[in-house]
Amino acid sequence: MNRKKSICCPRLLWPVVLAFVTTSFSWTSLRAEQLNIVTSTTDLASIARSIAGQHAVVRSIGSGSEDPHFIQAKPSYIVMVRDADLWIRVGMDLEIGWEAPLLDGARNMAIQEGGPKHLDASERVLRLEIPSGRITRAMGDVHPQGNPHYWLDPLNARIVAKNITDRLSKIEPKYTENFQKNLVSFQESLDRHMFGKELAAKYGGARLWSLLLKGELYSFLEGLSEDGSLGGWLGRMTPFRGQKLVSYHRSWIYFTNRFDLIIIAELEPKPGIPPSPSHLAEVIEIMKTEHAKAIILEPYYNRKSADLVASKTGAKVAVCPLSVGGGPGIKDYLTLIDFIVGQMTKVL
Ligand SMILES: [Zn+2]
Repeated sequence: MNRKKSICCPRLLWPVVLAFVTTSFSWTSLRAEQLNIVTSTTDLASIARSIAGQHAVVRSIGSGSEDPHFIQAKPSYIVMVRDADLWIRVGMDLEIGWEAPLLDGARNMAIQEGGPKHLDASERVLRLEIPSGRITRAMGDVHPQGNPHYWLDPLNARIVAKNITDRLSKIEPKYTENFQKNLVSFQESLDRHMFGKELAAKYGGARLWSLLLKGELYSFLEGLSEDGSLGGWLGRMTPFRGQKLVSYHRSWIYFTNRFDLIIIAELEPKPGIPPSPSHLAEVIEIMKTEHAKAIILEPYYNRKSADLVASKTGAKVAVCPLSVGGGPGIKDYLTLIDFIVGQMTKVL
């Protein structure tokens, strides 16, 4: 861990120094032996905290209530990442507009892309919507590596937790055993939330996930006359399998894919392009023919167009944060998915 601070302060650096003085109050709790982890989003911070435990102070650039595609690189953020022992990003181009200026400004080679203290959390996650063919500007804000909102699939949170564990173990090998223990307890807790305590204890999370991914979970449970014992998020969402809904932005696909819901349209005509009257008219027609019951959008989007479409179709609107910290009581990854499941069951 190298936390040397420059004592040379040319005039131009003063705004940055002042910002550092201000921010340093908020993390005076960082002890000498603790790692300083900075993440782009609160969801990554939540998972990193579960893995690092007492061995790190974890802070996030995003607060969870703003659009993660657009974050302004403030001087105080540059100071945050300058001394980081590990920088973690969502990746898949989610931070493409703001990561480079932030990391360049920090002048810490180790946290630059490809460096030992730079972790792209999307390694090995299950990816959806990888575009085939050439991408043009006319397609809107399309990400060439696929849809980057992957953290809303609990399976991907499990994989991200493993990625963080592996990297932390490289950076601080003496705590490897603790990181591993924390990984197991995070994954076990996630599996209990996903399948319910009873099933997770009886069959183990790994087996249940593998059955679910092969599409065999429901028949497996039926065969054992266990179909009534499916609990957790999956148990709560099972009655709504196959239902159709509309989202504002294409940010819910991982959640809907995991719980067998179908997104039939977006209020945005193209990713990152605000709704137009002609596009909304089309969405209304599609929703009527397909009997879609709900519209889901993040709190930072204008809900006027959602309300308009809802008034013409009888659908219900769910305003749902994408990230930890995006709403009251959403304090970590598990409460985030709890909240989304709760909202979905209300509107579907
Ligand atoms: Zn997006």
